[in-house]
Amino acid sequence: MTGGTGAQTTTLNGNRVAPEAALSPSGRWVGAALPRKEDRRMLTGRGRFTGDFTRPGMLHAAFARSPFAAATVGAIDAAAALELPGVAAVFTAADLGRPFLRAVLERDEFVPTPMPMLAGDEVRFAGEPVAVVLADDPYLAEDAAELLDIDWTPRPAITGIEAATADGARQVHQELTGNCMVDLTMFESASLPGIFAAAPVIIGGTFTSARVAALPLEGRACVAEWDDRDDQLVAHVSTQVPHAVGIAMAMKLSGDHDKVCFGFMGDGGTSEPDFHVAMNFAGVTRAPCVLICQNNQWAISTPGHVQTAAASLADKGASYGLEALRADGNDVLAVYHAVKYAADKARRGDGGTFVELLTYRVSAHSSSDDPSRYRDEAITEADTLLLTVPNQLGVAYNAHVLEAILTTVAPALGWR
Ligand SMILES: [Mg+2]
Repeated sequence: MTGGTGAQTTTLNGNRVAPEAALSPSGRWVGAALPRKEDRRMLTGRGRFTGDFTRPGMLHAAFARSPFAAATVGAIDAAAALELPGVAAVFTAADLGRPFLRAVLERDEFVPTPMPMLAGDEVRFAGEPVAVVLADDPYLAEDAAELLDIDWTPRPAITGIEAATADGARQVHQELTGNCMVDLTMFESASLPGIFAAAPVIIGGTFTSARVAALPLEGRACVAEWDDRDDQLVAHVSTQVPHAVGIAMAMKLSGDHDKVCFGFMGDGGTSEPDFHVAMNFAGVTRAPCVLICQNNQWAISTPGHVQTAAASLADKGASYGLEALRADGNDVLAVYHAVKYAADKARRGDGGTFVELLTYRVSAHSSSDDPSRYRDEAITEADTLLLTVPNQLGVAYNAHVLEAILTTVAPALGWR
């Protein structure tokens, strides 16, 4: 680090820095009060959300969705919607060439099945989108989607495994036989017969789980724009870390070198399933991402020691094979050093990093929060150290089956 009064530029670890940002009147950093740039938006409730973005020519999308669990879809008449001033376009699956994703699993038993982005002639679940409306504002897009005249022919829905696998059941996906996407026998082992033979109690049963779907706690939004100068699609997404890692994975797959994607979260975010998904894929794909956690030791009203039994949030990086750093979040140079190291590493193609920045929340979470209701202000900073929580990542089915087994086994063993 070099500096000097009156210099036009200075450098910090070799990077050029604007002089007004770099120099205090004394020419020193340490101990100097530096102007804060972030206060205005934080103090005035003007954080930037995807809904705040505006771009020239920007359009908003709304989807027309099926009110039926099963139906055939006839003509879609968009005339009334297109007459509304400000409605730019209406697209159906046919208009877009019937785009789909194909569900795959690396097992021979799994039957790859197309998942239409917009349903074509048939809808297979309530809420399946059949058309997208683009309009000047989001409310207009929603109103126009309701004006689409869609020729629905409802048909009986198939609910439950028995109905789906019954002889003569209608095939929901033509690629499947007997409506079965995958039929697996797991944990088959030559030692099992011996284990059962020696077991003091043997019980059997069929355990059926309800359908489980991933539902975000927070809404997701995306602003996408084509940048014809750099010939690339720029997507602004909510700061959900799986998206950041996904973007980094895409950068790597497309050979987009020398770029790095940042994802930001608080300590409470590390208690959510998303965090673990992101960490896992950041580790295993070595995608060029830097995941930064501002750990202020409170997830709104939940203190760190109730959030996790881990010694530190950075410890969680090791679980996922992801390099993790912990820095003093109140030390600007320590933060700079850690983040620069991580960004440089990502740009070199050496993978992602999780950076925990340890700090303290000295006041309320937000203007609507009264910390005196849950927080003992006598607790010192030292006492409030440390943090986060186990997650629900993909365990819903397993937890259900384990619970069912335990409630079945317990009476057989005489437990209460
Ligand atoms: Mg927090």
